[in-house]
Amino acid sequence: MYIDTHAHLDFDSFDNDRDAVIQRAIENKISTIITIGTNLESSRKAVKYADNYASIYAAVGIHPSDCAEAAEQDYSEIEKLAQHEKVIAIGEIGLDYYRMYTDKETQKKAFKKQIALARKLKLPVIVHNRESQQDVLDMMIAENAAEVSGVLHSFTGTMEFLEQVLKTDFYLSYTGGVTFKNSTTDELIINTPVERMLLETDSPFITPEPFRGKRNEPSYILHTARRIADLKGIKLEELAAITSANARHLFALPE
Ligand SMILES: [Zn+2]
Repeated sequence: MYIDTHAHLDFDSFDNDRDAVIQRAIENKISTIITIGTNLESSRKAVKYADNYASIYAAVGIHPSDCAEAAEQDYSEIEKLAQHEKVIAIGEIGLDYYRMYTDKETQKKAFKKQIALARKLKLPVIVHNRESQQDVLDMMIAENAAEVSGVLHSFTGTMEFLEQVLKTDFYLSYTGGVTFKNSTTDELIINTPVERMLLETDSPFITPEPFRGKRNEPSYILHTARRIADLKGIKLEELAAITSANARHLFALPE
């Protein structure tokens, strides 16, 4: 069984066949999908899906690319949503210096505020970083995110950065990008202990081979898992078992 620890099931590319996508995931041994909010509206939808489907859990939060539009009130609404029993993390939060929809200071304020919220509610954090890795890790350490732990999702970066992250207790998750011919993550995966790893699709984005170019969905996680198992030289079932146990531990999911 697999756990897709990062999907955006609320995105409109799933509007025509969301039920079928969720059903296909179950048929393909994905026992659990964590659907991740990116703003207040998207977080509300994530909670709604978690209410409607036994296999879905939700994370709520304001994404760095959405924090420019977020009002103060949105954060208190996120806090209320986070009380729901199937909300298992605060996310997606972090810093994005690639898209830069808003200035670094605004992004940092939103990130800091939401790490504090996670600590208050004792929920782990799901963290986005793009061309901001050092600031993200420095802030997670400075704001004591270690108290609730978390995951650096869609992990990429240098070996030096990996070494820094491995000195913390945070988890790392890899997406379908690992299956690309020009993938830059092989060495990172080889050097990441499986005990620190989570699997994710980041659906509808970063579709693994052989479906690259199409919409991604949770059932494609198998292709990412197969590539990671090959790189680690372990059996697929072993990778699935360990990464699922990691996800259950981090997000306090039921067995
Ligand atoms: Zn995401």
